Amino acid sequence: MATHKKPGKWRARTQAVRGGQMRTPFQETAEALFLTSGYAYEAPEEAEARFKGEAEGFVYSRYSNPTVAMFEARMAALEGAPCARATASGMAAVSAVLLAGLKQGDHVVAAKAMFGACRYVIEEILPRFGIANTLVDGADVDQWQNAMTPATKMLFLETPANPTLAIVDMKAVAKIAEAGGARLAVDNAFASPALQRPMESGAHIVVHSSTKYIDGQGRALGGVVLCREDFLKDHLQTFLRNTGPCISPFNAWLHLKSLETLSLRMQAHCENATQIADFLAEQKKVTRVLYPFRPDHPQHNLARAQMDGGGGVVTFEVEGGKEGAFRLENALQLVDVSNNLGDTKSLITHPATTTHQRLSPDARAALGVSDGMLRISVGLEDPADLCEDLEQALSTL
Ligand SMILES: *Cc1c(COP(=O)(O)O)cnc(C)c1O
Repeated sequence: MATHKKPGKWRARTQAVRGGQMRTPFQETAEALFLTSGYAYEAPEEAEARFKGEAEGFVYSRYSNPTVAMFEARMAALEGAPCARATASGMAAVSAVLLAGLKQGDHVVAAKAMFGACRYVIEEILPRFGIANTLVDGADVDQWQNAMTPATKMLFLETPANPTLAIVDMKAVAKIAEAGGARLAVDNAFASPALQRPMESGAHIVVHSSTKYIDGQGRALGGVVLCREDFLKDHLQTFLRNTGPCISPFNAWLHLKSLETLSLRMQAHCENATQIADFLAEQKKVTRVLYPFRPDHPQHNLARAQMDGGGGVVTFEVEGGKEGAFRLENALQLVDVSNNLGDTKSLITHPATTTHQRLSPDARAALGVSDGMLRISVGLEDPADLCEDLEQALSTL
């Protein structure tokens, strides 16, 4: 039925708009939304052939769906990945990679600084299945090397990491994984493929929460796993088909269409975030600003080497610890208090009492998450309005 567009050698911005498109005989210009659970066959012989994998075509939307397939193909083109599979959320993507790729007796090495739920899966859920872990300071390449054991099968990291925006040297860690016969999985949610493509640095697997910058408008949850053919065939495909963390075709359609403006939005997020970071750095009551592309970021050179932009998140510390941070949040009139990120609307959160509250005070201190720390996901509003809002809120401290 569907006709395929030839992707040819299109550049990233063209892939973002046209990659993976399949048209029905109606020749619709916008990608179609296929809200269907099942597919009919011309004959039982055809059903048999599709179930055996001998004929192409869709079988059931837990396996695949044309709208979902378009989203997957476009993501694969943007990340430079051979294969992509979309999931119901970012955590479904992360959990599937870890649970499909590891078994009893295996060992995973991960950077301490990571999204709270990822850390929960690695520290609390995997050990129930006999999968051990070592958490390292992601910025220290020697710690990655020293944590490797003969049982290590997966290395997992996030860069830039939440909320400190610490950067991990992906090329160095990919080499360690390769030498140890393990796979490197990178959570690319903070940068998006518009700013960073971990497979170019040697990552074997990339995971996304498409809920964040890929949707970009705070509407729908989704996730994506990008990988090579061996991982799909040997681990991921059967796991996803039989456990069922599939994305709704509706959410896949939203995220597919959102990819068309991803690079424009990321450019604007980066410009706004740069302005906000520079503004905050000049404020008396702000004691510290963290933004990957500012020269005072401890890994500024590495960030510039592996990213095309500093991203949309700025982290900063205010005087007065938790009380100061809460007072500032309460005084904001434009920026919303929300733990989500990657929205067109600017959102601020206090990591110590929200995303990182599960960690002990010592574990937070080890990550550099202080009581006065705030994380702002800079949106697409006029940056002058955002600076005015932050200025009046800071004046209450
Ligand atoms: C949000 C997020 C996740 C989880 O994604 P969901 O879509 O909320 O399940 C994982 N990793 C990072 C870095 C995130 O920001």
